[in-house]
Amino acid sequence: MNTHAQIRLAVGFGFALAIGLVVGFGGTNVRAQPGDVDWNGVVLSTHHVSGTVHYLEGRGGNIGLSIGDDGVVMIDDQFGPLADRIRETINRISNGNIRFLINTHVHGDHTGGNENFAAMGVPIVAQDRVRDRLAATQPAGALPVLTFSEDLTLNLNGDPAHVIPMPPGHTDGDSIIHFVESDVIHTGDMFRTVAFPVIDRNNGGTLAGTIEALGLLAGMAGPNTKILPGHGVVAGRADVIEFRDMVITVADRVEELVKQGRSYAEVVAANPTREYQDKWGDPERFLTAVFAELGGAG
Ligand SMILES: [Zn+2]
Repeated sequence: MNTHAQIRLAVGFGFALAIGLVVGFGGTNVRAQPGDVDWNGVVLSTHHVSGTVHYLEGRGGNIGLSIGDDGVVMIDDQFGPLADRIRETINRISNGNIRFLINTHVHGDHTGGNENFAAMGVPIVAQDRVRDRLAATQPAGALPVLTFSEDLTLNLNGDPAHVIPMPPGHTDGDSIIHFVESDVIHTGDMFRTVAFPVIDRNNGGTLAGTIEALGLLAGMAGPNTKILPGHGVVAGRADVIEFRDMVITVADRVEELVKQGRSYAEVVAANPTREYQDKWGDPERFLTAVFAELGGAG
């Protein structure tokens, strides 16, 4: 650790202490993590979406919550150091009985609390491939106990939850969850409102799967369906279609450039994401993946 990191850590701890004195320490397993995250400083808030469905915003992916007489169906869990405070926040708006926790995909900002919630007795549900990939890096206690390769339905709170495996887009273990009565779809990270798509090729994500999955999502949604993205704010079908059209337009432009034998630097110079950057920000990670997927070299 260099001197600057030590100073940041010291400042961060002082800040955490100050917050702790004001609001009380929120849990016992908060510890320093790479990146010097001040976990006690992370603000957790819940928002009602529609019907039984709420979401919890904190740090990492949006946590979906179906809440009713049967208890809670939870989608994703952010990070381990937040688990106790996430649990307390869920308890405040429910009867506290978390019946199932679904992982939409493998990434640590969606599964980082798995071990903590499993230790609380919550069964974790995910695609077979999510368990396989988690098993490479996580202890047995963090792994999903109920896995699937085809659709399944959780029948709780009078609001059937269709858990649907998607084509390999963001990763090869993506699932979306459609709460039928509430008419809300939690998409995980195959759809986001705040950035260009992440195609995580190291975890089996593909461009073709991203386009196909967004088309399926748009086809599944009705005009009034609320779309709860992995990151960002509640959206609708038109937003999914706009996002998919953007991906197709950019992919078409990049494909044309790759056919002409252009290098990655030349593709960047041609700026194939020009009209989209105001809305979705820095395209670099997306462009790199699209270029590689379409056979670009150099
Ligand atoms: Zn992700």
